[in-house]
Amino acid sequence: MCADKTILVTGGAGFLGSYLCERLLEDGNDVLCLDNFHTGSRSNILHLLDDYRFELIRHDVTVPICAEIDEIYNLACPASPVHYQIDPVQTVRTNVHGAINMLDLAMRANAKIFQASTSEVYGDPAMHPQVEGYFGNVNPIGPRACYDEGKRCAETLFFDYHRQYGVDIRMARIFNTYGPRMRPDDGRVVSNFIMQALKGEPITLYGDGMQTRSFCYVDDLIRGIMALMNAPDTVPMPCNLGNPVEFTMRQLAETILELTGSRSILTTRPLPQDDPTQRKPDISRAREYLGWSPTIELREGLMRTIVYFEGELSAPSSAPQR
Ligand code: NAD
Ligand code: UDP
Repeated sequence: MCADKTILVTGGAGFLGSYLCERLLEDGNDVLCLDNFHTGSRSNILHLLDDYRFELIRHDVTVPICAEIDEIYNLACPASPVHYQIDPVQTVRTNVHGAINMLDLAMRANAKIFQASTSEVYGDPAMHPQVEGYFGNVNPIGPRACYDEGKRCAETLFFDYHRQYGVDIRMARIFNTYGPRMRPDDGRVVSNFIMQALKGEPITLYGDGMQTRSFCYVDDLIRGIMALMNAPDTVPMPCNLGNPVEFTMRQLAETILELTGSRSILTTRPLPQDDPTQRKPDISRAREYLGWSPTIELREGLMRTIVYFEGELSAPSSAPQR
């Protein structure tokens, strides 16, 4: 489908990026994986290092770089609220300066460029489910703004480079995605609940647990990203990618307890500021233009993820290799 290209993947050592590198290599491409290892890990891409078509570049996207490439997938940015709030200024830099540097590179190299945007651009949405035409409800000065507004500014830059300089862009608004290779200390809800259940620790429900999310399994998501990158430039953008089946966090906790057979109790913690109350993608655009929809149901995806975390817990050293 997309063989024999040289493709740059920023954030390639992260959760989603490592799967993307893998699939692009399987399709016969040369892959340059760029990462500063802020939240990514060498262990995610260890199995790719012996492939002569794979190259690892330790680099920060906030610093310009030159490379001969045909395509760029721009994924560099911590995705977990816990991690992107540790150094919010760096999160804004990564999103904004990173986008400018990668768009400049795309322009110089005449390369097509994909942006990993996010459902967070909709903030705490007043429209449900969320369609791409909805402008969102984001607090620009809250603790999540470094990520939400950083990603919104990156979207602006992508569309302006397209209109002003003719750069060939693709953009997905990715909804909550989970699966093996999430860090045990990632801080997002799926990894937290599974780790807590497996260790017999209390499951930390934030707020009353009635807030909703829609969880997409990683394989489905990567298939969607690649379909979008390889679609004609007539596909309207941005394009929501996510699983439209919606769950409360309480339902998620109960499902994980059942699947792990854990006796962990549910405990509550304060709801973080600006935590969106509901989230569910309208994926009509992806269905119509890409023929894409998710195929892996939550229980199946959770089982695969639980097996992965069980393996991590029983490994001699469960600390991620950097
Ligand atoms: P992740 O944290 O596992 O991966 C991000 C990768 O980017 C890591 O390898 C990290 O080291 C690298 N990185 C961070 N800052 C960098 C910088 N300045 N320079 C170079 N590398 C840098 O997160 P993920 O879940 O794999 O998310 C990947 C992308 O997809 C992110 O852009 C995220 O915003 C987007 N996204 C993910 C989800 C999701 O649910 N996983 C949802 C919406 C959007
Ligand atoms: N959450 C929770 N317990 C946790 C971690 C998260 O109840 O241990 C909640 C969180 O408040 C949010 C939802 O789960 O409502 C999803 O959180 P996550 O950090 O995974 O992603 P995001 O908020 O970015 O969608």
